[in-house]
Amino acid sequence: MAKLTVRDLDVAGKRVLMRVDYNVPMEEKDGRMVINDTTRIKETLPTLKLLTEKGARLILAAHLGRPDGKREPSMSLRPVAEKVGEMFGKPVKFVDETVGEKAEAAANSLQNGEILLLENVRFHAEEEDNDPVFAARLSRLADVYVNDAFGAAHRAHASTCGVARIIGSWGGPCAAGLLMERELKFLGDELETPARPFVVILGGAKVSDKIKVIDRLLEKADTVIIGGAMAYTFKLAHGQKTGKSLVEPEHIQTALDAEAKAQARGVKFLLPGDNVIAELQDTGKLNKKGKPVFAPVNPRVNTAADIPADCEGFDIGPASVAAFSDAIADAKTILWNGPMGMFEDARFAEGTFAVAKAVAGATANGAKSIIGGGDSVKAINKAKLGDQVTFMSTGGGASLEFLEGTPLPGVTCLDDK
Ligand code: AMP
Repeated sequence: MAKLTVRDLDVAGKRVLMRVDYNVPMEEKDGRMVINDTTRIKETLPTLKLLTEKGARLILAAHLGRPDGKREPSMSLRPVAEKVGEMFGKPVKFVDETVGEKAEAAANSLQNGEILLLENVRFHAEEEDNDPVFAARLSRLADVYVNDAFGAAHRAHASTCGVARIIGSWGGPCAAGLLMERELKFLGDELETPARPFVVILGGAKVSDKIKVIDRLLEKADTVIIGGAMAYTFKLAHGQKTGKSLVEPEHIQTALDAEAKAQARGVKFLLPGDNVIAELQDTGKLNKKGKPVFAPVNPRVNTAADIPADCEGFDIGPASVAAFSDAIADAKTILWNGPMGMFEDARFAEGTFAVAKAVAGATANGAKSIIGGGDSVKAINKAKLGDQVTFMSTGGGASLEFLEGTPLPGVTCLDDK
């Protein structure tokens, strides 16, 4: 069911507590914490604009890093408040408390259209415990609750869920922000009744991480394409040799079941027919766990069914790229989650980049392309095609759980329309 959104709210003069995802990468430079990537801040600006134009007194809550319930100066949100103000074009106040008298006084002194950012919610261990007393203290700051932090919506924490339950219990509205609304539209509504053909591309490291998504989408898709290390477990299931590739022998049956389901439902199931493989050379170095580190050398295309015993598969090969690109070209809806290979290494990025290009090409021909978060977003951006797809999710774990059909606590606690 559609959720109430900030568009539906009358917030003039009201204190609106909005959970945002400001978990931005930071590093110390000359004794100051500097933000390296402001994408997450940028994503919230439309909601900030809408609410402040409606006259809300806006109180932002967010987490940064993993301070484990302790005050950790390097994880203070103070520099984030400054940056949000700079990007929004209007100062954003900051209070170095999250709950309590000082935070309440700061919230209560806001004028219509002003914004306040609270200190890191994770400085309190009660946040991740979804502690009801802490949630009640947060609720004292506000009349209305908004969640625009899709990336944190799979967590049942005090600021993503507990506080909404309390505000809702005394009749305060709980709504989705504009970013959350877009995530629910593209990962939810658009995939519920997709324009056909609907092509799903899944890659990444493990079958076990994605099996629930595969299973659910086999009920909707016309074609499912499998790439990444995940494909080697399917190879193993077909009795082929996978050398030193990343495989999950305990999931051979899972792989066979997925293929059987695809066949029973008439879903085309495409696996890579060739791969880019490499030998592994001992670097003489040890990793943090004291294990020897091996580096891939002598990369080459392998068209044989078996991967040699001393080699590992790191990418899909050119024949697979051609077959996958053909299937993608006809699509009217595309969902992509997970890279086709170890794209972080340029020698093994071609398969992923070629698929990104095919997705961008189909989008230019009228397909809706939805990139389901995490590494696929990194890969699309690395291929410089981020502006040529319809939607890129801001959630990693949250997108995956949502695509699996798992209810997200940060979404279920919002009011239905
Ligand atoms: P995931 O988080 O499951 O989407 O996995 C993404 C990671 O899988 C990326 O860091 C890729 O480098 C890695 N990956 C994809 N294909 C392979 C492969 N063939 N061998 C090793 N790692 C891979």
